[in-house]
Amino acid sequence: MSNKFETNAIRTQLVRSQNLEHSVPLYLTSSFVFEDAEDMRASFAEEKERNIYSRYSNPNSSEFVDKVCQMEGAEAGFAFASGMAAVFSTFAALLESGDHILSARSIFGSTHSLFNNFFPKWNISHTYFKIDELESVERLITTHTKIIYAESPTNPGVDVLDLEALGKIAKKHNLVLVIDNCFASPYLQQPIKFGADLVIHSGTKLMDGQGRVLAGVTVGTAELIDKIYRFSRITGPALSPFNAWVLSKSLETLAVRVDRHCENALKLAEFLEGHEKVNWVRYPFLKSHPKYEIAKKQMKAGGCVVAFEVKGGLEAGQKFFDSIKLLSLSANLGDSRSIVTHPASTTHSKLSTEERAETGITDGMVRVSVGLEHVDDIIRDIHQALS
Ligand SMILES: *Cc1c(COP(=O)(O)O)cnc(C)c1O
Repeated sequence: MSNKFETNAIRTQLVRSQNLEHSVPLYLTSSFVFEDAEDMRASFAEEKERNIYSRYSNPNSSEFVDKVCQMEGAEAGFAFASGMAAVFSTFAALLESGDHILSARSIFGSTHSLFNNFFPKWNISHTYFKIDELESVERLITTHTKIIYAESPTNPGVDVLDLEALGKIAKKHNLVLVIDNCFASPYLQQPIKFGADLVIHSGTKLMDGQGRVLAGVTVGTAELIDKIYRFSRITGPALSPFNAWVLSKSLETLAVRVDRHCENALKLAEFLEGHEKVNWVRYPFLKSHPKYEIAKKQMKAGGCVVAFEVKGGLEAGQKFFDSIKLLSLSANLGDSRSIVTHPASTTHSKLSTEERAETGITDGMVRVSVGLEHVDDIIRDIHQALS
């Protein structure tokens, strides 16, 4: 259509109905009708591409998926009821009993639980690598390894992984590279350019951007997506048409929203860097970030999340949270409302202290999802809470 991200995000839409609506209608329907017996037979035989039942496909989901495919440079995709449904279904569709996942250590908490508490039931094992030690990745590949999995930037430590380097390793060993791109959003980073075969998003975060719906999506090569589709149309993790409709509208504003998120986040990070009550600040587009050059290479801007450590450990951290007035204490991110979280006592509380240390989480660490309020007010609230 266009080679411009913003234009495609807005102008990709379903064929208009006979009502010639301007904004896309909501197809809140579980099934679709057939014209006659032959149409029904041919549809089920997959001789036609058409909607049959919303567990398989729905126009609103298709529009949402089409937009994400264009944004990520992917051939095909499937939309899920949540980010975790996308993560689980992607692995479950592609792996067999006995297979092995090689994953970065710094991954979303529920993905970590999936690997440790559930996949062993189906004899699917994993090994973690540290994202700072990509040279160790090749040594950890076994004859059973099928998938390499990672996120960048990471949650909640905001570390950055060299996607191009990982892509080369995956290609060399003929492994499927799956990247959870939720923290960056497709506007800031397109992992397929660097060698990813599949890209997963939690649509709940920056894609919705207003804290309303849960959603997930996996996009990538047509061949792999077909396997994921066949698994998912039977097991039923499909996204609801209503949530798909909300999300497709949200994607129209993704670029402008994420631009402002990043502008505000960088200003907050720069403010915190000079603050006497703060030990360290991590944000991909701060020059002090250890992976600043890699972040610049693979991302358009630094994202919405800033991590920092309050001086004084757990006690000072708790005092900071109790003093916050404007910002929300909540577990979401990528919302128009700024959110502060304390990973050590919430999202990552199920990890042992050693496991937390390995992922860079300290007791005084604060994660801020910087929202779209005026940046002066965001900074003012954090400043008064630190004081
Ligand atoms: C939130 C999140 C998920 C899970 O998404 P849900 O929509 O909450 O199921 C997966 N990966 C990352 C990086 C996330 O931030």
